Amino acid sequence: MKGIKKRIKKYDTIVIARHIGADPDALGAQFALKEMINNYYPKKKVYAVGSPAYRFRFMGTLDRIDDIDKNSLLIALDTPDLKRIDGINIDDYAEVIKIDHHPFIEKYASIELIDDTASSTCQIILEFLNTCRYKITKSMAKNLYLGIVADTNRFLHDYTTSKTFDLVSKLIKDTNIDFTSFYKELYNRPISEVKFQGYIYQNINLTDNGVAYIKITDDMLKEFGVDSASCGNMINDLNYVNEVLIWVFFSYDVKSNLIRANIRSRGPAINELASFYGGGGHKFASGARLQSFEQADNLIKDLDLLLENYLDVNNE
Ligand code: AMP
Repeated sequence: MKGIKKRIKKYDTIVIARHIGADPDALGAQFALKEMINNYYPKKKVYAVGSPAYRFRFMGTLDRIDDIDKNSLLIALDTPDLKRIDGINIDDYAEVIKIDHHPFIEKYASIELIDDTASSTCQIILEFLNTCRYKITKSMAKNLYLGIVADTNRFLHDYTTSKTFDLVSKLIKDTNIDFTSFYKELYNRPISEVKFQGYIYQNINLTDNGVAYIKITDDMLKEFGVDSASCGNMINDLNYVNEVLIWVFFSYDVKSNLIRANIRSRGPAINELASFYGGGGHKFASGARLQSFEQADNLIKDLDLLLENYLDVNNE
């Protein structure tokens, strides 16, 4: 962590990037780190970059860079592999630092701070700020708290640890943030999304071994007035259903002309299978972009087989 502090001190221009498909953990980490650098090193130019996510615009505003000085530092957050970095060419930078909590995929930075036992990248940033004794402002605390809450699904996932609670407890004590007031911004949603959720629950399919799945076409999205990102927002809500150990939503994404797959498990690890289909993620929360619904059928079969083997081994 001290090595990262040294690099931050060294460079006059620092760009903070993260993965495509911005989520609160990636955004919260970007904005909190940027604010700290601005506060401590006001002469440095600091940019938080990547495509914005309309839903999370309340967390902060992203920057555009037209021309990057070759002697700049890139800090890539929450991104285990190069192909997932949003809008950045790492060859444009003098040095690259990776800070991430995903399982390791590839080395692309000279300093890689990876903790795949951390609940979120925001947790690692929070630990970094504490270790290096940087003061955390209320707005930094808000962004870090939101990132941790979103990535742990309100402290539900099993990579939520006593360390997570210790860090969050200290954060709340130190900054006195009114954390319950943040949930409105994070969780408020239009009624169209609730009706769409009702449709998903009514129409979900179940394989013999317990893989729940649904395929959402563009026509369905239009009918409900939602987009494919809505599926990603509600996938976690299907947890703890007796008959379901793996669940996956497939939804057509008009922008990329691909099928988004949001995959979750509370049985076998699914990230290797997700990688096989060109995606990736965490052991129990993964995603992929597929070419067609036919490919989705293959993934369903493979997930079912994975679950069958898991149930055999675990005598369930
Ligand atoms: P999601 O279902 O979009 O919330 O994603 C769950 C996890 O899978 C996150 O950690 C993502 O970083 C990862 N993930 C999602 N989509 C992809 C993809 N196309 N390629 C690699 N990882 C992905």
